[in-house]
Amino acid sequence: MSETKTTMAIPRRKFGHSGPELTILGFGAMRLPGFRTGDFDTHMEGAVKLLRRGIELGINYIDTAQLYDAGHSEIAVGRAIREARDRVFISTKILPNLVSSADHFQSLFEESCERLQTRRIDIFYFHGLYWKQFRGQFAEMGLLKAAEKLRAGGRIGLLGFSSHDRPENIGRLIDTGAFDGMLVQYNLVDEVNAGVISRAGEKGMGVTLMGPVGGGRMAGTGPDFTRLVPPEFGDAPALALKFVWSNPDVTCALSGMESESVLEANVRSAKNYAPLTSAGRAEVAVLQKKLEKLREIYCSGCGYCLPCPEKVNIPGIFNLLICHQVLGAERYARDMYRLIGVLPIIPGSDASACIECGQCEDKCPQKIHIIDQLKRSHELLGK
Ligand code: SF4
Ligand code: SF4
Repeated sequence: MSETKTTMAIPRRKFGHSGPELTILGFGAMRLPGFRTGDFDTHMEGAVKLLRRGIELGINYIDTAQLYDAGHSEIAVGRAIREARDRVFISTKILPNLVSSADHFQSLFEESCERLQTRRIDIFYFHGLYWKQFRGQFAEMGLLKAAEKLRAGGRIGLLGFSSHDRPENIGRLIDTGAFDGMLVQYNLVDEVNAGVISRAGEKGMGVTLMGPVGGGRMAGTGPDFTRLVPPEFGDAPALALKFVWSNPDVTCALSGMESESVLEANVRSAKNYAPLTSAGRAEVAVLQKKLEKLREIYCSGCGYCLPCPEKVNIPGIFNLLICHQVLGAERYARDMYRLIGVLPIIPGSDASACIECGQCEDKCPQKIHIIDQLKRSHELLGK
């Protein structure tokens, strides 16, 4: 992976053999403008301002999707890049599950372009692609051909997929040779895709990452693991980013930044990036051992599982479970658990209110067995 670095600029890496040079830090717009509240109009101006600030600080790649905030994320990105289109690469995604035919795909693509105020999508990803789907419904509808036609006509620069499928199936998608790049999850506490990332690298594909800071697990919406991080690495997000950038097959880490302070901190990490040394790797291995328990309860606090009809505060409860199980803050976790629904910072109901309707489980991208984990939370925290 070639890398260019100039003083005080964010380093850039080429997206695969044929792609553009992307900054190693990309702006993931998945939670903009109003994901947490659903109030898109109120937060639109702030989202556009934050995205523009990212561009001003040197980020040259923004990722969005048709699905994010019901198209409002694309609108925010479109407004943010209007005056900077020649300096910024954008990607968007369409969920194949929502497509009924090649013509329908074409019309969804046009709608995305309209919201993004552009005729060309630099990198287009099929959103959340599964191997089984690629072989079935995807092939039957001729979606790959439809996308290739858009690429041949210059409407799509590069073609890729994002996926939460098993690594062996992601490997199969890579081996089709149909894609220029992919967007997968990979971070300090989840290296399950390490093998496919290296395979993609060998094939000359670009690799962008979702959840480089654990989708909030290591800071932001989740508990902050900084207290476990050796001081020379700074805080948990800084180390998490350094870790993924130290993989030479990674082109760009997409961080879902929701505030200027997080944005500025991440840009600082990118500008100061130097790969992990072998001593650093040994320290990281010790930290990874400590964080092992996190794999069992891999909640990012994304909130996709909500709303719950019984108002169970699923992300809040799992946050406390992580504090209890991983950070060793047992008393704090139990005290806070008792205050669910009392303190405004942790509204809703505790896990005992769950009626096991199952509505939440299908919506969780991390495939957490939410009902089982809620029972476990109540046993550990409710005593
Ligand atoms: S299974 Fe429990 S937590 Fe999930 S939506 Fe139903 S009541 Fe809420
Ligand atoms: S349980 Fe799943 S969907 Fe809900 S907040 Fe955690 S990771 Fe997100």
